[in-house]
Amino acid sequence: MAQPAEGRRAAPLRFLSLQVADLIRRAGAQFGDRPALVHGARTMSFAELDAQTDRLGRALLARGLAPGDRVAALMPNGIDGIVAYYALAKSGLVRLPLNARETPTEHAHKLADSGARALIAPEDVPGHDVEVRIGVHELPGMIERAGAGVCAVARPPGVPLRLAYTGGTTGAPKAVMLTDGNEMCEIAAFLCDLLPGLTPNHTMLHAAPVTHGSGAFLLPHLVRGARNVVLERFSAEAWLDAAERERATATFMVPTMLAMLLEEPATGDASLAITHLCYGGAPTAPTLLRRALDTLGPVLAQTYGQAEAPLAITLLRPDEHDEPRLTSAGRPYTFVEAEIFGEDGEPVGPGETGEVVSRGPHVMQGYWNDPQATAETIDERGWLHTGDLGRWDEEGYLHLVDRRHDVIISGGFNVYPREVEDTLLTHPAIVEAAVVGVPDERWGERIAAAVVARGPVTPQELEDHCRDRLAGFKRPRHIELWDELPRSPVGKSLRREVREAMVNT
Ligand code: AMP
Repeated sequence: MAQPAEGRRAAPLRFLSLQVADLIRRAGAQFGDRPALVHGARTMSFAELDAQTDRLGRALLARGLAPGDRVAALMPNGIDGIVAYYALAKSGLVRLPLNARETPTEHAHKLADSGARALIAPEDVPGHDVEVRIGVHELPGMIERAGAGVCAVARPPGVPLRLAYTGGTTGAPKAVMLTDGNEMCEIAAFLCDLLPGLTPNHTMLHAAPVTHGSGAFLLPHLVRGARNVVLERFSAEAWLDAAERERATATFMVPTMLAMLLEEPATGDASLAITHLCYGGAPTAPTLLRRALDTLGPVLAQTYGQAEAPLAITLLRPDEHDEPRLTSAGRPYTFVEAEIFGEDGEPVGPGETGEVVSRGPHVMQGYWNDPQATAETIDERGWLHTGDLGRWDEEGYLHLVDRRHDVIISGGFNVYPREVEDTLLTHPAIVEAAVVGVPDERWGERIAAAVVARGPVTPQELEDHCRDRLAGFKRPRHIELWDELPRSPVGKSLRREVREAMVNT
């Protein structure tokens, strides 16, 4: 709901001095031998998680790493990855997650841009120019050899807990700096609004990579003594099997996963204990939500945020999933301010469309090494400009209208058109390229490209060209050769018109 912008405190706010590492230690003391993490047949107790993160934290520092150093981690979804995550939190190191679906070139960019000193990755991942290379298979030995003892190293002032790369609004991947305070706010928001009443009898099923949205659910469950069950890869069958076997009570999915779950015939007959099927990270079609409600009952919970304010701007609770709210992303979390600013930078009232802005302890510290981009995104009053367009309804529910810039979301992954265009343009025959997302029932959006060539070339050759250079989810699935691209008066290619033409043919 629109609120006056005046008289509010300016960000950045420091929410709490408590750190993520403290919460792991406390959970270890409080919940001891109870199961904290489960992956297949392997279980790790709270006490073991605390002890192993201490050991690995010290082992990492013993490899010559110093607090504040960036450590990239390319790890499969599983217990070891989570241990590494909290070991980095305890040792004052900065975690930089890499996505296994990206190419070595994309990884190289993140490593160079962040100045990573270390890389934890499977042995067969190509060597990158980092000082300290740690194989995933070395971790158990490092933990074993480190011996017992606490690891509690303060992060130097201003150094973030982790970096999360995002295309931001300009297309060049930038690292979002997230602090312990940001994570504390996320936990508080989840425990207060999304999953109140968690107990040791609850179980979170991580269907999606914990390096992305699902990871936000780890700590709220850990601090309440609840279990986190991790799947290495999502499939509807694997999810159903684990949800039934483990009596999972909560899970997180991007809309594409929800669609896959509903396509699976066994879903309707499953005996589930799920009370919160959380979804978000991308727009979800109301038709999909209606089908999900029919099949799964009133268990859907939508959360809206972005890398700069992870998952915690607005929430649509299970009891709010009815018409006409199904097209809404919900209302702001308790500790979060959200507004919609009109063109003049002032809040607009219900029914008017503008840019969604948000302020509070969930908002990132800034972009890594990019004060200019930070200043362009967080204004002097502390408002984070999300780049999303939306409007309020009369009851204060947010309806997201469109993305201000042209980010394509395919299968829950963000694809930045410019990166794809730049890749197409590295082909010698291509002179112009416009990349857009076209609606796709399964993936939400599919990548399509219109290109102008200076010589003979086929769409197949261009697809082959992209195959070596872009992760699968970024590759154009449909390429058309055009004589020219539509341009604005100042000569910019008009992606919007390209998209309309593609959708209408
Ligand atoms: P990322 O920074 O990769 O997490 O992407 C964030 C963007 O995804 C947001 O700025 C929105 O455009 C979109 N998004 C996230 N959550 C939702 C949601 N619940 N509904 C619609 N769009 C969403």
